[in-house]
Amino acid sequence: MITSTTGPQPADFADVRATNLAVVLRFVREHAPCSRADIAASTGLNKATVSSLVADLIDRRLVRETGLTENRVGRPATMLVLDGSPYAAIGVEINVDYVSAVATDLAGQRLLTWRRSFSGGDSVNQGVAGVGAIIRRVVGRMAKEERQVLGLAVAVPGLVDVQGTVRLAPNLGWRDADIGGDLAKALRDPGFPIQVDNDANLAALAEQRFGAHAGASDLVYLTGEVGVGAGIILDGRLRRGGLGYSGEIGHVQLDPDGPECHCGRRGCLEAMAGIAAVLRKIPAPAEIQVEIEESVRLARARDAGTLATLESVGRSLGRGVSVLANLLNPEVVILGGYYVPLAPWLLPAVQEELSDRVVASAAGGCQVVASTLGHDAAALGGAARVLDSIDSGRLPGGLSRIP
Ligand SMILES: [Zn+2]
Repeated sequence: MITSTTGPQPADFADVRATNLAVVLRFVREHAPCSRADIAASTGLNKATVSSLVADLIDRRLVRETGLTENRVGRPATMLVLDGSPYAAIGVEINVDYVSAVATDLAGQRLLTWRRSFSGGDSVNQGVAGVGAIIRRVVGRMAKEERQVLGLAVAVPGLVDVQGTVRLAPNLGWRDADIGGDLAKALRDPGFPIQVDNDANLAALAEQRFGAHAGASDLVYLTGEVGVGAGIILDGRLRRGGLGYSGEIGHVQLDPDGPECHCGRRGCLEAMAGIAAVLRKIPAPAEIQVEIEESVRLARARDAGTLATLESVGRSLGRGVSVLANLLNPEVVILGGYYVPLAPWLLPAVQEELSDRVVASAAGGCQVVASTLGHDAAALGGAARVLDSIDSGRLPGGLSRIP
C-alpha cells in the first residue's frame, strides 16, 4: 500500500467516496437483499458512512429499499436490493455474417436480444453505418422504456488495442479503424461512453458474469467463428497483454505443411480447427449458419465423412486447447460460437488430445465445455463490460464533479 505523509488532498476524498460507493454497490449486487448493517459489518465501513453512501445510491436509483424488513434483535432492518430500473447496458457484437445486440438492466436481466444478418459492408464506413443503424434502434427502444443508457461496448473479431482502435480485423477487412469514434459520430455524440474490444475478451467477461461457470477465476473462452480467438481470465481478471493483443491462439501453428490460413501462414489452428475446416472450404458469410446445421444433421445421421472431419477438427482443436492448459492451467475452457452445436462430436477428440498432451495429471483439472450463452456471448459480454465499469466506480450521475 502507498501511504502519504501529507494526508489526502481534496481530489482524493472524491476518489475515496467513489471507491466506497462501488464497494457498497458490489456488495448489494452480490448479497441482496441485505441491510445497511450487513454492509457495515462486511465492508468495515462505519454505519454512518454506509447510510450516507446508501442514500447516495438510492438518489442515483442504483439501489432501492424493498419494504421488506429482517427481524433482528432490536430494530427491524430495511432490506436493500439493486434498482437500476432506469438504466440499460448495451453490448453489440459485429461479426462476419451477423450483428448481435443485447441490453441488460443493472442487475444483468436481459431487456433485449437481437440478431441481424450483416455482411460487413465493403468498407469500414458502410459497416459502421449498418451497425450504427442497429444501435440507434436499440437506444430508441431503451428510451421508449425510459431507460438511460449507461454505456455501449462493441465486440469486434480481431486485434483491438487497449485504446479500443481496431488494428486488424482480417475477416471483416478492417485495419486501423477507430470504430468507437466513428460510431459516436454516427450516433451524434449519444452522451454515453462507447468502448470497443476483441470479441473473445468480451465473451470471456460474459462467461465470468453470466455463464454456467460464472465466478471462475481462471477461464478461457474460445470463439468458434470463422476465426478462432481466446479470451483469457486469470486470477479473476481479463488479461489483454501489453498492447491488447493476447489470445491469438488461432494463429498458433499446428502443422507447417497444413492448409493456408487467412493470415498468409500455413497450418494455423484457425485453418485446421475453425469453421472453414469443419465445412472444408471458406464459406460465404450468409451460408455459414445453414451449412453448420447441415453438418450437425449429417453427424446425427452418422455420415462417415462428416464424423471423420469432426474428429480431425476435434483433434486439432484439442492440440490448441492443450497449449492453453499447459501454459495457463485454466479451470475451464469454454467453446463458443459454432463450436456449440458441434460440441458433441468435437469434445471426445478434444479430451483425448488433452489427456495425451497436458503434463499435469487429469489435464491439470481443466474441463472443456460448450458455452451455454451461444452466439450472444460477445454481445452479452459488452453489456457485462459496461456493468463492470459501473461496479468499479464509474457511476452514472457525474460523480467526478462532486467536490
Ligand atoms: Zn493464421
